[in-house]
Amino acid sequence: MERFTCGYCGAHELQTLFATQTRAGENFQLALCPNCQTQTLVPQPTDAQLAHAYDDSYYGEKEEKFGGWVERVLDGFRNGRARKIARLLPSGGTVLDIGCGNGRFLQSLIQRGFIGHGIELPGGSADRAARVPGLNLKVGSLAPDDFAPNSLNAVTLWHVYEHLREPKRTLEIISQILKPGGFLVLSLPNIKSWQAQWFKGDWFHLDPPRHLFFQGPDCLQAHVTALGFDCKEVNFFSLEQNPFGFQQSLINRYASERDFLYELLKGNQSALAQPAIRRWFHRLLGLLTTAPAIALSILEALAGRGGTMELVFQKRPAALE
Ligand SMILES: [Zn+2]
Repeated sequence: MERFTCGYCGAHELQTLFATQTRAGENFQLALCPNCQTQTLVPQPTDAQLAHAYDDSYYGEKEEKFGGWVERVLDGFRNGRARKIARLLPSGGTVLDIGCGNGRFLQSLIQRGFIGHGIELPGGSADRAARVPGLNLKVGSLAPDDFAPNSLNAVTLWHVYEHLREPKRTLEIISQILKPGGFLVLSLPNIKSWQAQWFKGDWFHLDPPRHLFFQGPDCLQAHVTALGFDCKEVNFFSLEQNPFGFQQSLINRYASERDFLYELLKGNQSALAQPAIRRWFHRLLGLLTTAPAIALSILEALAGRGGTMELVFQKRPAALE
């Protein structure tokens, strides 16, 4: 037991599990909190480390985070999310997307007649979101008085929860501003997945130092239901996230540079400046591992151990709290 602080409950006696390293070569460990079962990246990254990890290359150096065809494929996934959320909402309902990125998901909802609010940290993505017609954008993070109590129909966090410095505080605010019967939808890496347990420190979705803490499905459900929600759905399959998690983790295990294929797909200049043979070798590895990775992702999802997970929670009516 070492004196690290749990990223969720603030307990101080954590059990270290395994080591990991960032692309910049900084060393961290993952540590388990015996009090709340959250796994936290320790020591907690400094503001300077995070500022470096979220520099322009994270959000993409070009007009979009990813280049050309990758961005088109991602648009397809964003539209799928918007269709799913639209089915949960009354017509004209109000949605808050925390960590809204470039705002394309909200744009798709706004075009369907919903009211869209987004929150995003300063940077390239927020600049793009600010140009989406009809999107109400806050640059910064969620504060208790941003929205009236019981005012929103849905709050979404697409691969954002694990980045939060104060996850418990954020969930508490969300539980206040959602209407009774409103929905909280989260997607996040699954630390209890096959790929997480096989690849440990090399796991792509560990993404140090940006992912600050991890909760498995049971752990997350326990914490969110304790705040007045019922869990309505858990989905362990994501074609967008899970096969690539297997592929990049496997390559990470043997390559000298973490997440190199991912950086190539983002079109980052430092990756593109590497020798052509290196770039094509990683692309070839990506191509060759695609089919087996999809098959494994289907199997781990069927076993309830998918590499990422999406959970739908509904706020209980006030009378039942
Ligand atoms: Zn804890």
